[in-house]
Amino acid sequence: MSSIVDPIKEGLARGWKVLGGKHGPLPTSLDCDVVIVGSGAGAGITAELLAKAGLKIAIVEEGPLKSSSDFRQLEADAYAQLYQEGGGRKTADQAMPVLQGRCVGGSTTVNWAGAFRTPEETLNYWVDIYGLKECGAEAMKPWFEQVEARLNISEWLTDPNANNSVLRRGALKLGIKAPTIHRNVKGCWNLGSCGLGCPTNAKQSMLVTTIPTALDLGATLMVQTRADKLELKGNQISGLLCQPVHADGSHAGPAFRITAKHYVVAGGAINSPALMMRSGLPNPNDLLGRRTFLHPTVASSAVMPEPVQGWAGAPLAVFSDHFLRTQPIDGAIGYKLETAPVHPGFAMTNLGGMGRTLVDKAKTFPHTSILIGLLRDGFHPEAGGGVVELKSDGSPVLDYPINGYLLDGARRAHLSMVEIQFAAGAKSVRPAHEQAQDYQSWHQAREAILALPYEPYITTIGSAHVMGGCAMAATPAQGVVQPDGQHWQVANLSVHDGSVFPTSIGANPQLTVYAQAARMATGLAKRLTERDVRLDSPAVPASAASAA
Ligand SMILES: Cc1cc2nc3c(=O)[nH]c(=O)nc-3n(C[C@H](O)[C@H](O)[C@H](O)COP(=O)(O)OP(=O)(O)OC[C@H]3O[C@@H](n4cnc5c(N)ncnc54)[C@H](O)[C@@H]3O)c2cc1C
Repeated sequence: MSSIVDPIKEGLARGWKVLGGKHGPLPTSLDCDVVIVGSGAGAGITAELLAKAGLKIAIVEEGPLKSSSDFRQLEADAYAQLYQEGGGRKTADQAMPVLQGRCVGGSTTVNWAGAFRTPEETLNYWVDIYGLKECGAEAMKPWFEQVEARLNISEWLTDPNANNSVLRRGALKLGIKAPTIHRNVKGCWNLGSCGLGCPTNAKQSMLVTTIPTALDLGATLMVQTRADKLELKGNQISGLLCQPVHADGSHAGPAFRITAKHYVVAGGAINSPALMMRSGLPNPNDLLGRRTFLHPTVASSAVMPEPVQGWAGAPLAVFSDHFLRTQPIDGAIGYKLETAPVHPGFAMTNLGGMGRTLVDKAKTFPHTSILIGLLRDGFHPEAGGGVVELKSDGSPVLDYPINGYLLDGARRAHLSMVEIQFAAGAKSVRPAHEQAQDYQSWHQAREAILALPYEPYITTIGSAHVMGGCAMAATPAQGVVQPDGQHWQVANLSVHDGSVFPTSIGANPQLTVYAQAARMATGLAKRLTERDVRLDSPAVPASAASAA
């Protein structure tokens, strides 16, 4: 029996109000102060702050409640149980796989724990182009500090794993800076299975931080419950229709209705705009679901002389922003370099290749290193992102065309990564492209990559960073929501998740989602209760606070 304490099991034993799935029947109706759709990065932060303000909140999460006792470092379990569409979500033309969480904690339960503040040049762009003066670097600093304190975000002090060392070694050889990443972990065992759910509760995801705090303060969590439709009456939401679902997403019982004073949508980019589209909410400037960004991500795998065992150790520890900083934000597309965990299922399905190529890859697996290049979309007219559409059953799909502008970035990112891998001593390198080969030298690879056709499908591109679709802006002409998260046309509705970003950010998004949600939820708590709440203050029940 494991000696690792499972905070979810303990909370359930303490009497947390968790309903749905195996936790018991859902109510036929429910009334509360605020209902929050989702339980991921934006929802978790919002739940803790609103619960601290003494509000009666309900959290509606489509996915299951899984916890450290369930996380067994097995890919076969994790993708099916914890990810949107069982890990199989793709863009409309099937050209890009899109990874998003679908479980309590949302994508934070499965993310790789890299934590970056929003780059200053992105915030400046938001201030200049979208009038978001609240989002300037100075204005955002206290929000980043508050979140960092709450989620134990600090520099990764342990040696990077062998995969991250390839990036650092190769980059430094070429005179490129490759600093250490900050991570939201506490007592990390350096196992490397962040993407499969943290079995030791070290990752400070929403699953083990804010959601438990909200539940301890009396919140109700409904799992395996899909928010189906917001009902609009005049310029107000009058109710939220919810649908119990089985683990596979199919209907599991009759729909029921939640009524609240205020409604917060935080289902993540793609699902949040979809809920609002299904509900027929006003969209006078045709912005809803548009400008959805992915950080389209390309990869390159290298066979190193030394064992890499890239499935072990913190998957993200080193990065390089060299190729973001050396070009203007709105010029040729820039890219951030990082590493990806080398888990067999993930790597073999996402890096392309078939038949003999895959067999050869499997043989060299323990020596394989994977670098990734994340393209910064959203700042150039030719990187306008994708559009969320509804399928006939009301579920969403993202139409995100891959054009020549992005593919030029893909080629340049491949060149950069391959050069770094050879500089780090690689025996052979293969960019993730269906017509690429194993190249034995930088010179050979460079010639080949310059001659390869860069087109959708044959250029392997994916994403784990979905952003935008409900942009915030200072005017309704530019945004779906106001700078404080409030919907421009609907009085008691806010959006608090990654969908509010007006562009991608050019860094892994979780800390930006947390900080923006903290800013928005603190303001919402003040508007609804007159109370000042903070993430880094103790969670005192409102009744105790007012008695003191
Ligand atoms: C594999 C992976 C690795 C990543 N690594 C990193 C990293 O290292 N660093 C980093 O900064 N970022 C990383 N990210 C991205 C980061 O986790 C996300 O950007 C962030 O969590 C998004 O927050 P969100 O609130 O917008 O949505 P999410 O955290 O995705 O939460 C949305 C939640 O809403 C639920 N939901 C959706 N629709 C409905 C509905 N209709 N009814 C009820 N519930 C609904 C979903 O099931 C989900 O649980 C990673 C993501 C993935 C998938």
